[in-house]
Amino acid sequence: MTTSPRRLEGKVALITGAASGIGECTAKLFAEHGAKIVIADIQDQLGQAVCEAIGSSNSIYVHCDVTNENDVKNAVDIAVATYGKLDIMFNNAGIMDPNKPRINDIEKTDFERVLSVNVTGIFLGMKHAARVMIPARNGSIISTASVCSNIGGVNSHAYTCAKHAVVGLTKNTAVELGQFGIRVNCVSPYGVASPMATYITRLEGEAFENMVNGVANLKGVTLKVDDVAKAVLFLVSDDAQYISGHNMLIDGGFSIVNPSFG
Ligand code: NAD
Repeated sequence: MTTSPRRLEGKVALITGAASGIGECTAKLFAEHGAKIVIADIQDQLGQAVCEAIGSSNSIYVHCDVTNENDVKNAVDIAVATYGKLDIMFNNAGIMDPNKPRINDIEKTDFERVLSVNVTGIFLGMKHAARVMIPARNGSIISTASVCSNIGGVNSHAYTCAKHAVVGLTKNTAVELGQFGIRVNCVSPYGVASPMATYITRLEGEAFENMVNGVANLKGVTLKVDDVAKAVLFLVSDDAQYISGHNMLIDGGFSIVNPSFG
């Protein structure tokens, strides 16, 4: 039994939120493994820079606000028009709340904004990926949830609610699309030092690591964006050909030890 050294040779992937953090790292890893990448984000300059780093023969940038259905439809259509197909959809774009207000203090608009990006954005990604994957009878859809999909008290109500919803959507869609040979999974990382996480916590470098390592279950290791990207790579690759409907926790056991943190 062998595992291909280039696990995505000939595949086409669309990654939302690929201008930064987990998405950027995954785009670069997928490209190293032979995939053509559509980089979708709202941060155009950063997205273009990721594209340039990968190489314009292997990647293309598209402005895509995942809350806008036309943008998501357009990004999927560009993948198919440019590279002929879509094998992998990585719904990764997400936002965190800058605050963690009590339930009685949350503004409805703030709650809905988080759900709009973190849930509706993923629904739209699944919908338009399925649109082209069903006729092809092939595809792998993966989304970024969070350790907050499996635990209460770590993050805001809206974020926790949204990430639980990603798991629900993943399971339901996996059941529906299995008949077409399409796998649907999600990953749930613990705290990782992406631009968003360091901005929200107002902690950088060692200070951020000390904060997350301080409450981590698994000691002596710090979760990096590369670790998340490698888990995503495995789940979308043919090495995971019978894995569907799965929420892969990348939390070092944190949510088992702390079923309700806070
Ligand atoms: P990040 O801020 O570095 O990356 C998120 C990307 O999403 C950014 O490039 C941003 O421009 C993009 N984005 C935001 N809103 C968008 C929209 N409406 N349309 C398109 N793109 C949009 O942060 P990250 O930590 O790499 O986040 C990636 C995912 O990982 C998110 O879903 C986040 O919830 C999840 N996550 C992060 C952590 C963590 O600790 N960093 C832990 C668990 C889960």
